[in-house]
Amino acid sequence: MNLYFNTSLANGYHSPSQRIRLLTEDWVYNNMFCPRCGNKKLEQLSNNKPVADFICPHCSNQYELKSKAGEFGKKIADGAYSTMISRITSNTNPDFFFLNYCPDIQKVYSFIIVPRHFIIPSIIEKRKPLSAHAQRAGWTSCNIILSEIPIQGRIFVINHEIEKSKKSIIDKLNFTRTFEANDIETRGWLFDILNCVNLISSNEFNLEEIYRFETFLSIKHPENYNIQPKIRQQLQLLRDKGYIEFLGGGRYKKTILCKE
Ligand SMILES: [Zn+2]
Repeated sequence: MNLYFNTSLANGYHSPSQRIRLLTEDWVYNNMFCPRCGNKKLEQLSNNKPVADFICPHCSNQYELKSKAGEFGKKIADGAYSTMISRITSNTNPDFFFLNYCPDIQKVYSFIIVPRHFIIPSIIEKRKPLSAHAQRAGWTSCNIILSEIPIQGRIFVINHEIEKSKKSIIDKLNFTRTFEANDIETRGWLFDILNCVNLISSNEFNLEEIYRFETFLSIKHPENYNIQPKIRQQLQLLRDKGYIEFLGGGRYKKTILCKE
């Protein structure tokens, strides 16, 4: 992959957001393959398509591109909250590409894929509506909270300018497809517990260590009064999906899917 943008394309464009849209889309078009089926090229959809920016001509999967200057940080600002929620809960929701670039040298720094089944309403943060004095008073936008997506759902194509192999990217994405079978609510719980497992630094852990997240989980799920049984149920599901192994006696071991 050539990490540099073709800056000559943006000559004549003065709006910074227009320039960066042009350069990042061109970069994806020229460098990115389909991480679902491995097809060498993606096609650009016309700008008036509301749902996605790219489509794979082979498997028809759609992708939406979000770009940010500097480091990704915890969240990425996006458009209207209500549009986002209806899009990610629809049947035609796209996978997301997050592109992070160095504004000074016009070069891709990091690039990640987040498969669509990881984009659930709980990672979309509603921002304050615009004030009554604003031009679009009452308009409410959103942030995508990247840090709440389990690391397994943030698949690096380029990490700090280092490219990952195409095969490892496709394999990683395919492993996560086991979550597609679960509804949004179940996925929410599974991702919360997977995030807790990821936060435990050792490779093996016991039930007591995961119960330490009980308060955090009960704040996030105030409707649930039986957090501990819920945790155990989710651990079983994560075991069935191959993310952890049960060692017996309330002990668990992370599998290779829990390593970067
Ligand atoms: Zn494809």
